[in-house]
Amino acid sequence: LNLHCPACDERYALDSERWRCVCGAAFELEGTPRFHPGDIVENDTSMWRYRSALGFEGGPAVTMGEGWTPLVAAEVEGQALWLKLEYLNPTGSFKDRGASVLATFFLALGMSRLVDDSSGNAGAALAAYTARAALRATLYVPANTSPAKRAQIAAYGATLVPVEGTREAVTAAAQTAVMGGDVGTRYASHVYHPLTLFGPKTIAFELWEQLGGRAPTRVVAPVGHGTLLLGCYWGFADLLAAGLIERLPRLYGIQAAAVAPLAQAFASGLADAQPVFPGDTLAEGIRVGRPVRGAEVLAAVRASGGAIVAVDNASIVAAHEMLARGGFYVEPTSAVAIAALDRVGEGGETVVVLTGNGLKQPLFWPNAPMSAAAN
Ligand SMILES: [Zn+2]
Repeated sequence: LNLHCPACDERYALDSERWRCVCGAAFELEGTPRFHPGDIVENDTSMWRYRSALGFEGGPAVTMGEGWTPLVAAEVEGQALWLKLEYLNPTGSFKDRGASVLATFFLALGMSRLVDDSSGNAGAALAAYTARAALRATLYVPANTSPAKRAQIAAYGATLVPVEGTREAVTAAAQTAVMGGDVGTRYASHVYHPLTLFGPKTIAFELWEQLGGRAPTRVVAPVGHGTLLLGCYWGFADLLAAGLIERLPRLYGIQAAAVAPLAQAFASGLADAQPVFPGDTLAEGIRVGRPVRGAEVLAAVRASGGAIVAVDNASIVAAHEMLARGGFYVEPTSAVAIAALDRVGEGGETVVVLTGNGLKQPLFWPNAPMSAAAN
């Protein structure tokens, strides 16, 4: 495996200290093995059943059973859907997949402290997996991140650093800290490090297995930086290259209208996203004004025949309630995918990825306790 720059074709060793190319672009992986169904570890009910597709040996996996999440049939507003319950992962979000890979990789490399910046869920995931591996972690988060997410990160024993300002200011603070860190410190960025994308890549493999050896027609998911959708694309591209599916599913990325650089670039036919100032949105997990892998995400979505659209707060609230009334309690960020269903329209077998647990960011608190008269 090598780190490869898709912008300028430069290459680096996988264990390089560089977290992005000298030209500024984020790396992709080069030399990943071909997907072979026969290599699936059948008795491993975690995403590590696909370890042979990862491409590096390393040591034992740092795992808590992440992945292999339920795929549940549901009907939403008369439309039959599959819901992929990623919010049932160990820390309550799909970010556990990438964090499990990064912790495994950096533990094998002999690192002692991992640093990342996150709107919350990736930070909680890395905090948990570094705790599991007895590594130290420092997580930079926006000062306005939900209290439940900050509490979760701190509970795992990670050093939590709230940063005022935009999401980009949080990233800058983390990167400055890494440069000043000791030799055992690495920037375990869930956005920049391409091994992270092996996490969502395994979602594609799982969907293929869970649907009995076929791809769905469409996959709908929230996008901030877009790593979930891009990882899924890489996974389905592997399945296509292996001759296991006939075509890619159409990929639909959903953004919040207040922070929609990818939706705007898609609508305008641009190759990359223009940065936007992040407005206020309930979907804090995708409040990203400057997507790092924007060009790759746009290219992947277009290659699949899908689209990127945005939804407003009112429709997020409505979708959140609709899901909960059906038994699915997710955070508002996850509800954007359901909020966009009328924009996406009907057409074939559709999987909606429910990314984060509702306990992380409750939308409404019930009023005072019920009165005695109600009993
Ligand atoms: Zn480059």
